[in-house]
Amino acid sequence: MPKTLLLKNVRPLAAETTDVLVTDGFISQIAPNLAAPDTNTTVLDGQNQILIPGLVEGHTHLDKTLLGLAWHKHQAGPTLKDKIDHERKQLREMNHDSHKQAAKQVKLSISRGTTHIRTHVDVDTDKGISHIEGVMATRAELKDYVDMQIVAFPQSGLLVRPGTLELMEEAVKLGAEVVGGIDPMSFDRDPKGHLDAIFNLAHQYGREIDIHLHDPAELGAVQVEMIAERTKALSMKGKVAISHAFCLGMVDEAYLQKLIELLRENDIAIMTHAPGNRLFPPILRLKKEGIRLFSGSDGIRDTWSPYGNADMLERAWILSYRSGFRYDHEIEVTLDMVTQGGAAVVGAKNYGISEGCQADMVVVSGETLAEAVINRLPRKFVFKKGQLVATDGQITLPD
Ligand SMILES: [Zn+2]
Repeated sequence: MPKTLLLKNVRPLAAETTDVLVTDGFISQIAPNLAAPDTNTTVLDGQNQILIPGLVEGHTHLDKTLLGLAWHKHQAGPTLKDKIDHERKQLREMNHDSHKQAAKQVKLSISRGTTHIRTHVDVDTDKGISHIEGVMATRAELKDYVDMQIVAFPQSGLLVRPGTLELMEEAVKLGAEVVGGIDPMSFDRDPKGHLDAIFNLAHQYGREIDIHLHDPAELGAVQVEMIAERTKALSMKGKVAISHAFCLGMVDEAYLQKLIELLRENDIAIMTHAPGNRLFPPILRLKKEGIRLFSGSDGIRDTWSPYGNADMLERAWILSYRSGFRYDHEIEVTLDMVTQGGAAVVGAKNYGISEGCQADMVVVSGETLAEAVINRLPRKFVFKKGQLVATDGQITLPD
């Protein structure tokens, strides 16, 4: 007998009230006044709240969160290298368990309505691929409740730490879907070597690329050009993302226009999470120019930052606030970044709220989509493949 769910009285994307019937994990019918097909059907009342597709956490670091552990007093120095060295030492000293910690964050994400996650996971000569194995164990454990994509991420540098590239290849062979990178110029001091290495690895194994690029202004912009060149040369259009790309919010208009054309031509997606003290990419401008945008929490409660709560509606709020958005249609762009935009980047299949889509859905309070973002109240219901996984902001899975 098929497993059925009837979700009564919801407003898909803030439209008219209707009912949604889910059969074996997929939306089979959307229409008003539906009756339960049999007595085994689970019937829930959405009380005229908004129904959106599952939220997408497009950029985080599951393997390094300190969620649930003692409060961490931040003492690392201000540079990227200070923070990386501090983290390596701290995680080693506390015997950090990436598998257990990742599971805590994933469960928090689920309670907030996230159904898809792209996580960068450290690979370095200190920990080898142990974090990749840890997060893969978490992924296997929670596979029915969240879809997860793993980025092999050379957090401690790629070429400056010989042996890292070989470990990255091991991670890819183990099943990492995406090859990461980090500041080829300022950190690795060899942009050509760094980019050639990660592009060759991704190309050889048919993987995507998602590179952390914090480098500012022209320093970052030149690397965007180099990323675009390699995307084109290896026919990887649509398979490359740049995370942060602060430089797009810092260069002059003429240079920005040139970069936008390169991003569009090669369909390179941009991830921004609008961190508090940085200039960041101009969201509306990029959206208008047809650039794919997505967002994420980045690190949550780790040795890098005390912030983060895994709430992607709150992330949309932050993106809106920092961009100075007031109009509903502007705020809706940020909601799109944490739903459709992220889903397209992480390769979510059958995503959305229409018949035939996988029933990854969130019931959220608000008269309009913009109000749902601004209020960001606890999610009434969260469904993964039609299964209820959280109610009123609380996860309903076993511990
Ligand atoms: Zn990151």
